[in-house]
Amino acid sequence: MTRPALSLVWDERFRQYDFGPGHPFTEQSRGLAVRLLAQLAPPDEAGPLRWVDDVPPAPRDLLETFHRAEYLAFVEAAGAMDGSSLLDAGDTPGFPGCYEAAARLVGGADRGLSLTLEHSVPSFHPGGGLHHAHPDRASGFCIFNDVAIVVGRAAREHRRVAYIDVDAHHGDGVMYGFYDSGRVLDIDFHQDGRTLFPGTGFPAETGRGDGAGLKVNVPLPPGAGDEALLPLFRRIVPPLVRSFRPEVIVLQHGVDGHVGDALAQLQYTPAAYAEVDRLVLQLAQEVAQGRLLVTGGGGYRPESVSRVLARAGTILSNMPTPEDGSPLPPPWRVEYFEVVGEVAPLTWEDRSATERTEWRTEDEQKLVAELETELGQRFPSAS
Ligand SMILES: [Zn+2]
Repeated sequence: MTRPALSLVWDERFRQYDFGPGHPFTEQSRGLAVRLLAQLAPPDEAGPLRWVDDVPPAPRDLLETFHRAEYLAFVEAAGAMDGSSLLDAGDTPGFPGCYEAAARLVGGADRGLSLTLEHSVPSFHPGGGLHHAHPDRASGFCIFNDVAIVVGRAAREHRRVAYIDVDAHHGDGVMYGFYDSGRVLDIDFHQDGRTLFPGTGFPAETGRGDGAGLKVNVPLPPGAGDEALLPLFRRIVPPLVRSFRPEVIVLQHGVDGHVGDALAQLQYTPAAYAEVDRLVLQLAQEVAQGRLLVTGGGGYRPESVSRVLARAGTILSNMPTPEDGSPLPPPWRVEYFEVVGEVAPLTWEDRSATERTEWRTEDEQKLVAELETELGQRFPSAS
């Protein structure tokens, strides 16, 4: 019997985190990623995946480690009402059962963390990554902040945590939640806050007190793609993570930086996500004994979210990575059509066209110089 190489956390009830028709955030495309993985490594066979499919909502006391009691009571009341209400200024509606649905996603992250600490192989929680929620309020489609809650749990258990966030939006709930923590290294690549929600995450925001110098923000201009992300990622992330020596790494793997996403204007391709996955997995094996929790996050283009997250699952579990031109399984394509209401892609290859990039080597030098000044640290280029 082979030892599973990846714990995959997905409970079908995660789909109950549902803001209703017309809302851009849906767990359905994360579910499609999981179903695609299930075609490659069926849950009923001893294969490379440990399938975790029964996840209860996180208990109140775990939620209270990050969220305020008054806010939890407010969400609970909203979830007990018949109809929809608003949990924040407009993006994040309450719905019947929203407390349990959001708490179950936290339960998934918590289980993922426990499993990777126990087995020293990565855990993958594609339904999670709700990095905008704050202690006292919902924000940006995020009711409870599952990633902040598990980062906090690891830090409380005397572990140093490296949190890496490649969502198109700045992970403000996590960064400000641990702004003065010396146990949390936070590295966040995102579209410049002057051009995108939530409007934060600048190089000068480097942490405070024990956390000073441990919060690293890498804002990219609209239109930036792989040519901007990858050289910066390779240059900045490995040295920071190696010198911090985390005992566990958490990667928020939002897919809304993908070219063609409806809510952001970055132009990452699947190849960039695949390289980020490989680099982070390698770092986790090198410095953290393989302890790595990868969550989902944003992503509003189902054909990208489903394939990028499924491919991440194959990389994290050392399965053969599907060739771009290889066909997608017909049963999966049928399900995709039923869920999305559009014809599914035929192969793994995402042909969405990128625009000409404005990003130049000088832009990289300028941004790195700014980070070096703010952080008091050098990031030599590899060449
Ligand atoms: Zn996002």
